[in-house]
Amino acid sequence: TSFTDLGLAAPLLRALDEAGYTTPTPIQAQAVPLVLEGRDLLGIAQTGTGKTAAFALPILNQLIAKGGRPPRGGCRVLVLSPTRELASQIADSFKSYGAHLGFSVATVFGGVPHGGQRRALAAGIDVLVATPGRLLDHMAAGTARLDRVETLVLDEADQMLDKGFLPAIRKLIPTLPKQRQTLFFSATMPTEIGRLAGELLRDPARVEV
Ligand code: AMP
Repeated sequence: TSFTDLGLAAPLLRALDEAGYTTPTPIQAQAVPLVLEGRDLLGIAQTGTGKTAAFALPILNQLIAKGGRPPRGGCRVLVLSPTRELASQIADSFKSYGAHLGFSVATVFGGVPHGGQRRALAAGIDVLVATPGRLLDHMAAGTARLDRVETLVLDEADQMLDKGFLPAIRKLIPTLPKQRQTLFFSATMPTEIGRLAGELLRDPARVEV
């Protein structure tokens, strides 16, 4: 399989070429077509398998295909991450793969001032990568809204559990549209994470690497 076979648009293929990627990893080969079809996804995968590109590439492809603009105060794609470091890495991946697309990508996480995040949110963001606690702060302050999210990604869900983020996630979820695509990634599937996946996903395709 090549990235061209996966059905990705030319500007994405160009960015992949520039990044030196020649061949999709197994999770990319399996997940990209499913996400492009609009399926919900349960991905059992560790870091290092290429899982970030497995969701970022088809999500960017869908944003190109759908057109449209981000809502003021909100985002079109929400990626939840358990740590700031991972959130930054995921945002950098979206920026790199989306280098020829012009979508806005921003992060929201704790330990930095609210002001910059508040201004980015106010303008509207195509792809927002956030840790659950700080995002909940913005929701409570009225500086973030999730009612226009088209795609939700939960990355490293088992780490979310370990970090005590499940209550925050359970507060955020009801404010998202029910009509959305959800991609759920975890390296392991403890009972509580299996239950959360069952609540968030609709008829998910399962990919395990
Ligand atoms: P991840 O598992 O998403 O953290 O990705 C692990 C590393 O693999 C990152 O440094 C990516 O840039 C790199 N990577 C992901 N997919 C590919 C690919 N198809 N070819 C080469 N490198 C890749």
